[in-house]
Amino acid sequence: MKSPKKRATRLIHAGSDPAAFKGAVNAPVYRASTVIYPTVAAMEKASNNPLDGVFYGRYGTPTSFAFEEAVAELEGADSTISVCSGQAAITAALMAFLKTGDHLLMVDTVYGPTRKLCDRVLAGVGVETTYYDPLIGAGIADLIRPETKVVFTESPGSLTFEIQDIPAIAAAAHAAGAVVILDNTWSAGLYFQPFDHGVDVSVQAATKYIGGHADAMLGTISTTEEYQKHLRLSTVGMGYCAAPDSCFLGARGLRTINVRLARHQRNGLALAEWFKARPEVARVLHPALPDCPGHEIWKRDFTGASGLFGVILDDIPKQQVDAMLDGFEYFSMGYSWGGFESLMIPMTPASQRTATTWDAPEPALRIHAGQEDIADLIADLERGFVRLTGGN
Ligand SMILES: *Cc1c(COP(=O)(O)O)cnc(C)c1O
Repeated sequence: MKSPKKRATRLIHAGSDPAAFKGAVNAPVYRASTVIYPTVAAMEKASNNPLDGVFYGRYGTPTSFAFEEAVAELEGADSTISVCSGQAAITAALMAFLKTGDHLLMVDTVYGPTRKLCDRVLAGVGVETTYYDPLIGAGIADLIRPETKVVFTESPGSLTFEIQDIPAIAAAAHAAGAVVILDNTWSAGLYFQPFDHGVDVSVQAATKYIGGHADAMLGTISTTEEYQKHLRLSTVGMGYCAAPDSCFLGARGLRTINVRLARHQRNGLALAEWFKARPEVARVLHPALPDCPGHEIWKRDFTGASGLFGVILDDIPKQQVDAMLDGFEYFSMGYSWGGFESLMIPMTPASQRTATTWDAPEPALRIHAGQEDIADLIADLERGFVRLTGGN
């Protein structure tokens, strides 16, 4: 009998089957659309069970299956489906559970493109979205209607990092028969185990921490036994699948996620503390710091913090903030995050919510702590704050 393995060990070996690949440690990149069958009988058998084994490229290959098994281990899921981007994972998960006339409860601090999906695409097919306060907790019950089919969560919230009470929200949703979807990209599945907290479907932009090297577009949809077949059939039915190179990079990134995230966490906390000590900073929005809304819930439900957080500056003119951002040596500007490099971008959260108000000076900053030496990052920040304060 095998001994029970610790999590770090499981993350190294999950989905790994060298014997299936002539001893190669990593599942190779399989490029396959057509899969051929020797007989009509074999073809009929495969068509009747398209989710068993390798059937047709869009349904998956040994490369995607190896990646999916490893992500299922990471998320604590029964099963994972890989798709071409995080946004595709969100779309596929929502479309699998919503039809015309249904109602969706969407967290007000959701990732911007998810909001656009609701307002543009879902509204167009007759799905109504109500945005709710990320801190609503059990109060979500008051917003649930008979036609509410999905409660969508994202914790912490995009841009402003509110931590949601997922168990309380899930209890209310389940009492009304609604499915709970979580965008789990921030924790990478490493620091928040969604299925231990009542989530039914956990999506991730594997583009971020799972890939971890800023070079692949990839999304994952992880779920329980109950929904796995439905989700897989509706996802392939909508045409979503992940490119084999991206699955390979995702699987490769995942093997080091445990050590990478520890470093992102350490650098993120050190930077957050540095910002907090500066007189030009009004607030630091980092789930591991008490100033962050929902910090107590983070302490209860999460086992760590990744490297993405926010900073609210005092009322400082935009051109001075721009001068700081334009001159960094290590903090690059660019969308996405989760790679090994540090990033900093200006953000304007007030305009990206409708159910709640956000009253703080803008532009604020969103920082991704990369894996550089912390002394170099802080020296870069110190020079940046000279530009921010107009050289005073
Ligand atoms: C980046 C991101 C996505 C979208 O992922 P893509 O791979 O860029 O499509 C979704 N949710 C969150 C929270 C993200 O940060």
